[in-house]
Amino acid sequence: MEKKNLDWANLGFGYMIADYRYVSNYRDGRWDDGEIITESNITLNECAGVFQYSQSCFEGLKAYTTEDGHIVCFRPDLNATRMKDSCERLEMPVFPEERFVKAVEEVVKANAAWVPPFGSGATLYIRPYMIATNAVIGVKPADEYQFRIFVTPVGPYFKGGAKPLTIRVSDFDRAAPHGTGHIKAGLNYAMSLHPIVDAHKNGFDENMYLDPATRTKVEETGGANFIFITKDGKFVTPKSDSILPSITRRSLMVVAEKYLGMTVENREVLFSEVEGFAECGLCGTAAVISPVGKIYDHGREICFPSGMEEMGPVTKKLYDKLTGIQMGEIEGPDGWVHTIL
Ligand SMILES: *Cc1c(COP(=O)(O)O)cnc(C)c1O
Repeated sequence: MEKKNLDWANLGFGYMIADYRYVSNYRDGRWDDGEIITESNITLNECAGVFQYSQSCFEGLKAYTTEDGHIVCFRPDLNATRMKDSCERLEMPVFPEERFVKAVEEVVKANAAWVPPFGSGATLYIRPYMIATNAVIGVKPADEYQFRIFVTPVGPYFKGGAKPLTIRVSDFDRAAPHGTGHIKAGLNYAMSLHPIVDAHKNGFDENMYLDPATRTKVEETGGANFIFITKDGKFVTPKSDSILPSITRRSLMVVAEKYLGMTVENREVLFSEVEGFAECGLCGTAAVISPVGKIYDHGREICFPSGMEEMGPVTKKLYDKLTGIQMGEIEGPDGWVHTIL
């Protein structure tokens, strides 16, 4: 297999049309066999459920080339389970979990030429998603759906290393109590676009959302969970029913405890505690960990001792261990690294 002739080291984080995608359609109460196709456009009726009532959910994971030349991905079974949870909450049909993992394998294999080489800093971003496809005008779930996976090669999320971010406490809420904050629904993102545009206009990189009921507890940002390091070296990460269960965060909890011997606390985190922490970071598939240097709260600044120049020392250790496992340089727990080719 010959790799595509791309400038791998200088890829941005954007969409590029690769050769193949995986598609399966749900009709008459069942999923068809699914196939790999070349057509990147979708033709739908103007009244399709996805356009009217936003029945859509998605996942995101990456494929990597390891030093010994294999193509692997990271814990795809957890993406399959999380998509099942999203579908159930949105009254969409579940795409069976074992078929989800097989479909990821198939589409990555078909696009092997697009998987960035080891050491380039780039990866293949994999985007599984599901949409309601038949016409729906009365408010109800659709009867027909499409499950699709496309891939696109992406560069490192942060070019030139991860500079600490400045974030602000948002006056908007991301997710209602008992709402859809815990699933990966497109609608959660639609709501976050205005707050993020407004944050950028005001010079902030991201929003910190607090729990909407009491506005006293830390939830997450629009697309990443928080991790904190205490001054005595504990790993603390917020727990709430309206936080999206990040696979990166759940993996970092294991890395902190099992690989770095840290005490791990997954619990409610009061906003008033935050100024006492030593390090803060955002975690998710795209950036792995983005360090946070400063939090702005209505005229008051919380500056972490790790500063605005580089990742805090403990955050850096976590980052190196997790990316080492993902790239096959460090032996990970059973089942974490899933070999595709
Ligand atoms: C996808 C997502 C994350 C990160 O999850 P990972 O599984 O680590 O990629 C965090 N928060 C929100 C709201 C998300 O949608």
